[in-house]
Amino acid sequence: APSTRDRSISVLDAGSIHNISSGQVVVDLQTAVKELVENSLDAGATTIDVRFKDYGLDSFEVVDNGSGIPPQDYDYIALKHHTSKLASFTDLQSVTTFGFRGEALSSLCALADSVSVTTATAADAPVGTVIDFERTGKLKSKKAKAARQRGTTVTVSGLFKPLPVRRKELERNAKREYAKALSLLHAYALVPCAHENKGVRLTVFNHPAQGSKSVQVRTDGTPSTRASVSAIWGPKALEHLVDLDLAFPVEPEAAVLRRLGRAQDDERANEVKVKGLISKFAVGCGRNGTDRQFFFVNGRPCAPSKVQKAFNEVYRSFNATQSPFVIADFILPTDSCDINVSPDKRTILLHSENNLVQALKVCTRARVVSCAHRRVGCAR
Ligand code: ADP
Ligand code: MG
Repeated sequence: APSTRDRSISVLDAGSIHNISSGQVVVDLQTAVKELVENSLDAGATTIDVRFKDYGLDSFEVVDNGSGIPPQDYDYIALKHHTSKLASFTDLQSVTTFGFRGEALSSLCALADSVSVTTATAADAPVGTVIDFERTGKLKSKKAKAARQRGTTVTVSGLFKPLPVRRKELERNAKREYAKALSLLHAYALVPCAHENKGVRLTVFNHPAQGSKSVQVRTDGTPSTRASVSAIWGPKALEHLVDLDLAFPVEPEAAVLRRLGRAQDDERANEVKVKGLISKFAVGCGRNGTDRQFFFVNGRPCAPSKVQKAFNEVYRSFNATQSPFVIADFILPTDSCDINVSPDKRTILLHSENNLVQALKVCTRARVVSCAHRRVGCAR
């Protein structure tokens, strides 16, 4: 057999590196849309429209009323590792923006037929600038002007066309991929509320290749999780939900103390708060009802599997057949979690996670039990 070692070690050219790493930042339609919506939230938008054409196969577009991008930044928008959000690695401990790596737009340029940005700052409005990008993230030479209030529109057409295998996958599973994107958008519709921030008016619609466009999500910007739940699933969905308002100390684990350089008998515990909603245990959301489970760490949607398992276990001990409808935002010090674990930032490392999960189970059980013993439910 031919040797795999018929070449000596040499460095990949920059273009290849760009293409290889881009494919890991944006892995599917869901992560592509997520990156754009996060950018809008980072820009302080209070209104965000997400428009899919043909379930995203043709194009998708995110329109916001955020800060806009100032002209001196145009050249860097889609260059890899160019960001306005983080200056150095040490800032990562305290980062509060969704983005910080400056990889999303540059990756999308490499992975789509075309990426176009129309943007205006308060100083530019009502005249915006239309910017088109090359695959490499460089600006195409011609910039056009267009009417635009303050904010930014990013349009991505022909996602994954440069990667035929992935494009085929996307086309084959278009509806399922679209449903996944929609589910993540639900999470972002719940975030600002979980965060007790200002609300965001989020509208999502799809325009299928045949037929007329239909609205999939419309929240009215009220900063309350209940209002968003009602907007997404209808007012009936609220009937069996109770507030999840927990606070408990988490003892630091020995390894964490070592890493932080604290004494092994240091008993200063981290205070963790959990805010959100959970269904009373008589009424879950079906046997495989994990599609209505949303977790956040400091308002950042994520997929903490041990935490999810903890909620399901507690619930299952009362209701053998169903899983809870749960929305839970974990509020903890930014230096007690690490968000830079996976390119899509959905995996988050929590300090002393085992202790946290144990304490969470005890509190959740008490909360669910206390509601069950009141004759007239306990809405609050
Ligand atoms: P990151 O979000 O990690 O900084 P991105 O590639 O997602 O990287 O975006 C690059 C930069 O482009 C951002 O740092 C920001 O300055 C600018 N930008 C992107 N989208 C928007 C938007 N919707 N509104 C304002 N600025 C944006
Ligand atoms: Mg970003």
